[in-house]
Amino acid sequence: MPEQIPEILQKKIADRLGFYEDMGIRMFYRDRGTPLATGTEQQLETARVSIHLNVLPREEVTLAKTIRKPELPKPAPAITPATPKRSHLLLPVAGGASLFESVDKIADDTLLKIREDLGDCTRCKLHSTRNKIVFGDGNPKAELVFVGEGPGADEDAQGLPFVGRAGKLLTQMIEAMGLQRKDVYICNVVKCRPPENRQPEEDEIHTCSPFLLRQIDTIAPKVIVCLGAVAAKTLLQTNRGISQFRGEWLEFRGRKLLATYHPAYLLRNPPAKSEVWKDLQKVMAVLGLDVKKGKPAEAGKSA
Ligand code: URA
Repeated sequence: MPEQIPEILQKKIADRLGFYEDMGIRMFYRDRGTPLATGTEQQLETARVSIHLNVLPREEVTLAKTIRKPELPKPAPAITPATPKRSHLLLPVAGGASLFESVDKIADDTLLKIREDLGDCTRCKLHSTRNKIVFGDGNPKAELVFVGEGPGADEDAQGLPFVGRAGKLLTQMIEAMGLQRKDVYICNVVKCRPPENRQPEEDEIHTCSPFLLRQIDTIAPKVIVCLGAVAAKTLLQTNRGISQFRGEWLEFRGRKLLATYHPAYLLRNPPAKSEVWKDLQKVMAVLGLDVKKGKPAEAGKSA
């Protein structure tokens, strides 16, 4: 029986690995490149997949994972890259259609109804430490939706998403695209601030994400931009590190989705801003915005 690593140390290791992951350093993952198995009589096959659990408990865990053989017809895969450059992106967390792909759109839903249904939410433990619910903000018919992780202290105080330091950088990024905040919609995976700005936990994400799903369905944007690993992993139902699919066009419930780094990460790692700017230029091209008129330097320098 291997010796148990204390939980606090596990968390520290997971945080550090997550940081390296975001930096694109992945040599710590022993079997990350495990190819999909093919060519046996069985319909489903179990592969061992090393996953860095951000959405689930934040530990490096090796799980037995059910995957579909590539030659089988795929029933609504959880992640379908618009440009399938890397086949490993087809690997969702759970076997079969993702939680979200199988959920029907609610007819005649509106942001108001969703907000009313959310109510003075006590569905998860985050309610006990929050000040204000941060539902989301912006154009209810936006072509572009940004999805962050969860409110921080400033957002919790004001009840608005992305109004702190990271939010100011996001605003600069939006303006560099030739847009204003009121043109887009901004929301988070969880609507209440996790204490000490920790990452939202699996049960919190699970409880809150149906509201996010309804928000996206209702707004029906052309493009969803996931800011950071938590948003990307939640919507894509994957445990792949964000650096493996950042900047690639993916699909979420028939909509174009692109994951990029979180503005808070950019505050810690300013050189990564140029990567994010390239990602946003791809978004601009799809939205028909003038890519040449964009001003990356402003978004890049002043934060
Ligand atoms: N970080 C997030 O992910 N969301 C916010 O609203 C603010 C900071």
